[in-house]
Amino acid sequence: MRTDLLSTFSPKERANAVARATALLKRGEVVALPTETVYGLAADALNAIAVAKIFEVKERPHFDPLIVHLPDRDWLEKIAALPPRDRRTILRLADQFWPGPFTMVLPKRKRVPEIVTAGLDTVAVRISAHPVFAEVVRAFGKPLAAPSANRFGRISPTTAQHVLNELDGRIPLIVDAGPTEHGIESTIVTVRNGRIEILRRGPITAEELRGIGFQPMTDGPEANGTVRAPGQLPSHYAPRTPLKIIDAVKTFSPKPNRRAALLAWHPPSRSESSQFAAVRILSERQDLREAAANLFRYLRELDALGVDLIVAERVPSRGLGEAIMDRLQRAAHPRSAARCRRE
Ligand code: AMP
Ligand code: MG
Repeated sequence: MRTDLLSTFSPKERANAVARATALLKRGEVVALPTETVYGLAADALNAIAVAKIFEVKERPHFDPLIVHLPDRDWLEKIAALPPRDRRTILRLADQFWPGPFTMVLPKRKRVPEIVTAGLDTVAVRISAHPVFAEVVRAFGKPLAAPSANRFGRISPTTAQHVLNELDGRIPLIVDAGPTEHGIESTIVTVRNGRIEILRRGPITAEELRGIGFQPMTDGPEANGTVRAPGQLPSHYAPRTPLKIIDAVKTFSPKPNRRAALLAWHPPSRSESSQFAAVRILSERQDLREAAANLFRYLRELDALGVDLIVAERVPSRGLGEAIMDRLQRAAHPRSAARCRRE
């Protein structure tokens, strides 16, 4: 794939770059865009396959929940379900800090694909203040998922040239708006049960929040005597049902009197399927991108059935297969559910 680098220096160049980026995003492609923190790798947040491509491009060997960038405030309640008790606080925080480097983790609505939140039932949302990013997301008209535009293990890019060095040939477009302003990632908070908790420190500080009448909890020196209740917020999703990884369903039979569900890589035969209370096939055409896009949703669906065991077939460990296997292996670990929920 050829990677174009488009400048936004003149109004004409900028209009062209925004139009190209928008057209690619509408086709489900991944493009690199400047934000006020670092360059981001953006894709349609409501298109699970497009989001799977982000992980593929980054070569991340695991799935992380992504931040969803909203076109405007009207999108907040289409993406997140605001608890009545916290609604006023959330809206006040949005008034104060949006657009800007401030992210809120809130209960997610169904329309947000599971791969965006790595299976969690909360979603991280923000509105970027970067003029070029803001123009693209508004022209696109829907939220964008956008982690930093680097390959796994490399530092976050603060110039378009960094992005090109990392991702040349892997994405169709990099929009260049010069070096980013902060170079430090957004502040992340949760608002729950009347409390604001800082999950990640960033450009918006606890002092700033206090200065305008909020009482955030932090876990560091800024905590100021407040006790952070640990372990309330899961950072990873894991099913509650025990999970076992097998090489192929051909060579497996559930124990008698135990109800098992199958998460399949190879489409099973009818007699193989009949041994299971439920079957989900990650991708009928054995496409790892589609498998990644379906993984968390299927895990949740099988977990909700109350079976004794989920049996998951190994997937090939190339491309996104590595990240899929990472998630299955964590889920297969004894007590992983409890551990992941608390991590
Ligand atoms: P970034 O690297 O700036 O794109 O930010 C991603 C960060 O946001 C990751 O470190 C995640 O742990 C965090 N994050 C995103 N969604 C959630 C969520 N639903 N719950 C908790 N943390 C989240
Ligand atoms: Mg990063």
